[in-house]
Amino acid sequence: MNDASPNSWEARADAATFYGFTDLPSVRERGAVVLTHGEGPYVYDVQGREYLDANSGLWNMVAGFDHPGLIKAAQDQYARFPGYHAFFGRLSDQTVMLSEKLVEVSPFESGKVFYTNSGSEANDTVVKMLWFLWAAEGQPQRRKILTRVNAYHGVTAVSASMTGKPYNGVFGLPLPGFIHLSCPHYWKNGAEGETEEQFTQRMAQELEEVIAREGADTIAGFVAEPVMGAGGVIVPSEGYFQAIQPILRKHGIPLISDEVICGFGRTGNTWGCETYGFTPDAIISSKNLTAGFFPMGAVILGPELTDRLQRASEAIEEFPHGFTASGHPVGCAIALKAIDVVMNEGLADNVKRLTPKFQAGMAKLAEHPNIGEWRGVGLMGALEAVADKATKRPFDGKLSVSERIANACTDQGLICRPLGQSIVLAPPFIMTEDQMDEMFTKLGRALDQVFAEVA
Ligand code: PLP
Repeated sequence: MNDASPNSWEARADAATFYGFTDLPSVRERGAVVLTHGEGPYVYDVQGREYLDANSGLWNMVAGFDHPGLIKAAQDQYARFPGYHAFFGRLSDQTVMLSEKLVEVSPFESGKVFYTNSGSEANDTVVKMLWFLWAAEGQPQRRKILTRVNAYHGVTAVSASMTGKPYNGVFGLPLPGFIHLSCPHYWKNGAEGETEEQFTQRMAQELEEVIAREGADTIAGFVAEPVMGAGGVIVPSEGYFQAIQPILRKHGIPLISDEVICGFGRTGNTWGCETYGFTPDAIISSKNLTAGFFPMGAVILGPELTDRLQRASEAIEEFPHGFTASGHPVGCAIALKAIDVVMNEGLADNVKRLTPKFQAGMAKLAEHPNIGEWRGVGLMGALEAVADKATKRPFDGKLSVSERIANACTDQGLICRPLGQSIVLAPPFIMTEDQMDEMFTKLGRALDQVFAEVA
């Protein structure tokens, strides 16, 4: 695939772009995929090759890559008022309207919205909000943040500390005071003979023990994704949130739902917390918020945190935090349109309609002797590769099985994501049934090819 000539797009991409989260030797060998445009769920590279993007970009391009309504919303707003901030009590009308809309569609009776440019910054922001409010309420020692192993909350120093992935060790992270509880993945972490219910109880027990060990009065909050997306689509064990929420409430620990992936339809409901039956104190949103058409994140505060933060801010005059582009008018105009497109123009319905077909396709591929588990909800799912299905023994990491599967897919014009030993799919909400068939056919071929090589 790689065109090694010095003026090729591959060489130029490699020469001057510092890639993040990229397997550099593999990209050097295969060449970067340099894209020019998209149509529906397809993207096209500089050679004109077509790829069905089964990951919606990075989970976010849920309305596809050329949605005319979203493009028009951006164009109109650029023409009207192309940029402003939200400091000093000055902000755009679009920002006001989006805040109203977000509170309206949130699970909260009332609330307020704080804007950022990304999901990472929204998670940083909510942690600073918690630190700020506990200090203002006379408990400055309440600074510890609870998250889970395998969680992904972003890449800034704070959100990377919340993230429960070992790779952050290379940065000397996590920062002190970020505590990672066990990942509630029953298939992988359930003990021999333990039922799913017992496993969930063990997760809740661990939370009680950690709170007792650390002291509830040192803990600022608990942040969790309803489904761990970048952890490999880890669906929580049955009853998990019902088991942990009362414990957090008992100790006055706010529960923050990181809905950067789950929010706006991915799990089949507007919010992942709806799908899993819990009510958080705040929601973190990004990605689908603008259907990927603008970098934007938001902290949506429920009524209690709103009141407490409002009081804390008034006591010192202001909440001293904000980004230049917080509440950007173009981002807000796009988000308003994206919410409308997802919720009122049939995309959320399409998720519901396609989910049985998606899940049946995943289950079919999981019959393969080298797929140990398929898991997922709504239009997100993962297939976990195993060397031995009976014992769940993983492949030797050196075989890079999931990367090979993803490469075999790319060669056929299908983009899907390797994560650990799993392959993750998160198709755009506009996908048709025929496109879904194409996705599963190509992925099935890639699995056959790679497992024949390594098994
Ligand atoms: N939180 C979750 C659940 C995510 O999946 C991500 C990104 O994938 C983030 C936060 C970070 O968002 P961003 O990449 O916009 O900083």
